[in-house]
Amino acid sequence: MDLYEYQGKQLFERHGIPVSEGRLATSSEEARAAAEELGGPVVVKAQVLTGGRGKAGGIKLAATPDDAAARAGDILGLDIRGHVVRRLWIERASDIAREYYLSITFDRGEKKPLFMFTTEGGVDIEEVAATKPDALVRLHVDPLEGFQPWQARRLVYGGGVTDAGEQKQIAAIVERLYAAFVETDAMLCEINPLIVTPDGEVRALDSKFTVDDNALYRHPDVAEMRDPESYPPEERAAREKGVTYVKLDGEVGILGNGAGLVMSTLDVIALAGGRPANFCDLGGGGDAEGVVDALEVITADPQVKSILFNIFGGITRCDEVARGILAALDRMTITHPIVVRLDGTNAEEGRRLLQEAAPPNLYVEPTMLDAARKAVELAR
Ligand code: GDP
Ligand code: MN
Repeated sequence: MDLYEYQGKQLFERHGIPVSEGRLATSSEEARAAAEELGGPVVVKAQVLTGGRGKAGGIKLAATPDDAAARAGDILGLDIRGHVVRRLWIERASDIAREYYLSITFDRGEKKPLFMFTTEGGVDIEEVAATKPDALVRLHVDPLEGFQPWQARRLVYGGGVTDAGEQKQIAAIVERLYAAFVETDAMLCEINPLIVTPDGEVRALDSKFTVDDNALYRHPDVAEMRDPESYPPEERAAREKGVTYVKLDGEVGILGNGAGLVMSTLDVIALAGGRPANFCDLGGGGDAEGVVDALEVITADPQVKSILFNIFGGITRCDEVARGILAALDRMTITHPIVVRLDGTNAEEGRRLLQEAAPPNLYVEPTMLDAARKAVELAR
């Protein structure tokens, strides 16, 4: 789960990482009131779950409350890389002498958390990594040993920070960021830029914070930060219904039972010259309830043009799944063409049930490849 900048900053604050004071606003009027309360110049910042807001016009300085209200009006409703701005963070403006970068994430290859630090902050870190790889200091933390203070010093000295006051503040932030990362079960904590003010004060000016979805049950306060409006309708439906759902980019909606079968179905769709729009994993289930839930999620995605059921009956019997599909189609109206491939336990019985009772938009195909070809053809 990705957090908004202001939510990440709340967590930073809880862990003692310095941030600027700010207020949330959802209208020009609230932005004006926030600026009045904060006093002095403010920054009006679009809260969207994507980066590069500055370049997209989602971050503006405002000298007065009137100015803040006007900038809020400009930014609210703006579309930043497919994310519509509905919330603003109004923050006391900072004077910036230098912009650094600090993050901690998982290095799956090493199976360890990885710190990255550079004094070349503010811009895309990918660009720094590509053009000035030596400027980027990387350091793994052994999760069994935990964080060691020398690691913060190595990052700071390795990055070439020479000012003693800065060194000390950054080292403290590194240690606190590690605590925030571990204690929140985070996948990523990124500060870009980590600024140094002309007075030599170090602060997190931005935050990117991602928490492991599978650990959210341990962090009800973080789970509560979820903004349902930030997810497309089908992802919201999947979450509510507890359906395993992944959004992709093509036009064929896929339902399968079991992760391995679903993965190979994606490949076969590609082989047939198509692209999957999304997929649902029915797991072991194939009852009408599960099929209705999955179909509702899949058809809520406007990109879906055809649907492919790929079921291998093991413990779940194909005739049960066929009954589930028919019951589901009785309960809901689906206009998309649906292709079904059943194999495994009681496959013949399942196919017979479908062929006898199926509506005209349902096609039964004997093999996975035939089914994929049919689904791709129908999607065109
Ligand atoms: P991003 O574009 O989504 O990464 O948003 P950031 O919060 O990182 O802001 C982008 C840039 O806007 C920063 O790198 C700063 O240069 C600038 N910026 C943001 N807040 C302030 C501020 O308080 N004062 C000044 N002078 N610049 C700011
Ligand atoms: Mn940033």
